[in-house]
Amino acid sequence: MIQYFTIALRNMTVNRVSLFTKSIAVTPLIIALAVALSSASIKADDKNPQSINVLSSIKPIQLIATAIVGDLGHSNLLLPPSANPHHYQLRPSQRARLSNADLFIWVGPELELFLVKVLQSSGVNQLPLTAALKLQQDSTENHSSRRDTLEHHEHSHNHENGYTSAFDPHIWLNPAYTRSIAESIYNELSTHYPAHQIRLRENTDTFLARLKTSEEQITKQFTAQSQIDIYTFHHAFSYFADYFGMTISGTITLTPESRPGAKHLAQLASEISNKKSICLIKEPNFKAPYVETITQGTDVKVITADPLATAMVNSETGYIEFIHAIADSFSQCLK
Ligand SMILES: [Zn+2]
Repeated sequence: MIQYFTIALRNMTVNRVSLFTKSIAVTPLIIALAVALSSASIKADDKNPQSINVLSSIKPIQLIATAIVGDLGHSNLLLPPSANPHHYQLRPSQRARLSNADLFIWVGPELELFLVKVLQSSGVNQLPLTAALKLQQDSTENHSSRRDTLEHHEHSHNHENGYTSAFDPHIWLNPAYTRSIAESIYNELSTHYPAHQIRLRENTDTFLARLKTSEEQITKQFTAQSQIDIYTFHHAFSYFADYFGMTISGTITLTPESRPGAKHLAQLASEISNKKSICLIKEPNFKAPYVETITQGTDVKVITADPLATAMVNSETGYIEFIHAIADSFSQCLK
């Protein structure tokens, strides 16, 4: 409810700004109404053209952007935090919010395919991260740049259980990519807001220093070797596991929105029945009733981890808290 009101008030603020820019055509009554409704929510910096107004497609990217923007403006979110970014349809009000952003940050067509058409007709300034990081599937540079940043990358990408070696779009779960994402956002914002360049650099450096400390702490969490096989609900955590030297033995489904095929489930059940103990990482936003049937007769530990940071507070340390939450879930698996 509170969230709904925040969004409603924010939209009114946006409307008010656009009403003023087109004020010749607007009746005084509408202006008076808009001012009355929105005055409580307006902060001083909304009147400042130098106030940064970035919009991100998904929560984990918003959290990185929030760390860079700091108190220089607003870092907002386009999709509801629990929405499935692999498969979504924007409402007209969301399209309007997209068009009103100074900068829109999204992962790329590899994740939010539904945004490609929308962005073609929107004209908003955009930062597609897979392109900015040169990670696109067809890029010939792709393989060498990924090898540079990921020591353990190759070995985990060909499972016998039906998962193909398609590009993994969950790039925010690889700390090396997160550093590049932060730098990309910094570059983009410091170009658009040169007056804020020094502050933006300070914010970026603070974020990168926090991330480095977190990586060191998380690395220590995973020094002990474990015999447990980790299975994840959908193919979201490969980067995270690779980066910290763990292996994902398999995934229940490739795309979270669709039920996995009967053949894949049967294969998985027979594979799992040969394991002594497994840890299954479920996601809070997806129900998977078939999970119980395939793990019958096996010592299975079920843990929840949220690759979309749904419950994280949008703050300058939100991403850091998020990556620790993922690490803590994996740690529970290995205990
Ligand atoms: Zn996903």
